[in-house]
Amino acid sequence: MKILIIEDEEKTGDYLRQGLSEAGFVTDLARHGADGLHLALTADFDLLVLDVMLPGLSGWQVLEALRAAGKDLPVIFLTARDQVEDRVHGLELGADDYLVKPFAFSELLARVRTLLRRGRVSAEASVLRVADLELDLLRRRVMRAGTRVELTAKEFALLELFMRRQGEVLPRSLIASQVWDMNFDSDTNVIEVAVRRLRAKVDEPFPLRLIRTVRGMGYVLEAAEG
Ligand code: CA
Repeated sequence: MKILIIEDEEKTGDYLRQGLSEAGFVTDLARHGADGLHLALTADFDLLVLDVMLPGLSGWQVLEALRAAGKDLPVIFLTARDQVEDRVHGLELGADDYLVKPFAFSELLARVRTLLRRGRVSAEASVLRVADLELDLLRRRVMRAGTRVELTAKEFALLELFMRRQGEVLPRSLIASQVWDMNFDSDTNVIEVAVRRLRAKVDEPFPLRLIRTVRGMGYVLEAAEG
């Protein structure tokens, strides 16, 4: 994972570079707006940490130019001014998050990780597929054999879990902890009922059944025959 830092303040730039390197990222540091923009346009980065007040081009100009050039990498901007207008402006220009200086490095790292995770979901796994069943995470849509299947939010979450862990037998306790909240009473038959409804929608109208009950253990979704 490669991160570009554009920051003119020497101490902050060095501190960010060192911290992110120690956290396992490959980093590049530019201390000038125009240099930073050039780097961002010519090399591939997974994320940009962008200061607002820069010599050459401002952080806003860098961000605008990047988005105009179709670079959609996640951008976290750093602002010294704790002003609502500043933050709104940055987000309107297409930044994904911001931090007000001074900030704790741990906070920056947490946000970097969140944005990188989100980026992976949208780029690589926005559509989960098992046989002719498709679940689109971004559009919140399920298709089976080319036909739209309407699910409730809980049914969608349940199917997402089954598809992410296809071929694995999922015990009811695990399903409860992933799809229902912590106060869920697993003695009730809520899971059985939800699985039955889900099957009625995504399995029963079709020749190939994907969701199986494994007696005494739980449920599994897989495309295996029989
Ligand atoms: Ca600055």
